[in-house]
Amino acid sequence: MLSKKEHLKIIEVEVNACRKCDLWRTRKNPVPGEGDTHATVMLIGEAPGYWEDVRGRPFVGAAGKFLDEMLSRIGLPRRKVYIANILKCRPPENRDPLLLEVKACTPFLDRQIQVIRPKLIVTLGRHSTSYILSKAGFRDVEGITRLRGKVYAADVLGLGVSVIPTYHPAATLYSAKYRDGLESDFLLLGFELEKDR
Ligand code: URA
Ligand code: SF4
Repeated sequence: MLSKKEHLKIIEVEVNACRKCDLWRTRKNPVPGEGDTHATVMLIGEAPGYWEDVRGRPFVGAAGKFLDEMLSRIGLPRRKVYIANILKCRPPENRDPLLLEVKACTPFLDRQIQVIRPKLIVTLGRHSTSYILSKAGFRDVEGITRLRGKVYAADVLGLGVSVIPTYHPAATLYSAKYRDGLESDFLLLGFELEKDR
């Protein structure tokens, strides 16, 4: 039987060779995702930005720095979580993902979730939130401001998980409202983790 690590490696190799949507043409590097294969917490972002595309790693730009700060504040080092995105390749000019790109790419994310089997999923931003919550059968999953600040008990791909939707960390760089919201959602994550101990 393959280990979790081997399964994730296979997904990574497939992502690196993927041409299922046009984004492979403009990407510098695909960003499959990374982290602890035995993580109980999975963070799901939207798509690689400029620096992620350059380095082939998720959340390594300014938004990533803020994310690292939020994680360390609740005593959860980045190396203990798994971080992935809805899209594995950067959309030109960081435009929103297209529906056909999301459809082409999310089988990779679904497989990552099935391998890691997280207990908690933090969805960063509206694209990630609506993808995960609609997958869990929730309706009316628009409006991140309305959805955030709560923990949703959900069935995602047959796994019982707690979903914590929050703002995208990039949005927090220019708005105090988003920054405060994201901070309080990470405190909620810390609280949920304490319950498990
Ligand atoms: N924004 C994302 O959604 N994901 C990243 O990896 C970086 C920035
Ligand atoms: Fe493949 Fe996803 Fe990249 Fe599109 S974004 S080429 S589906 S890995």
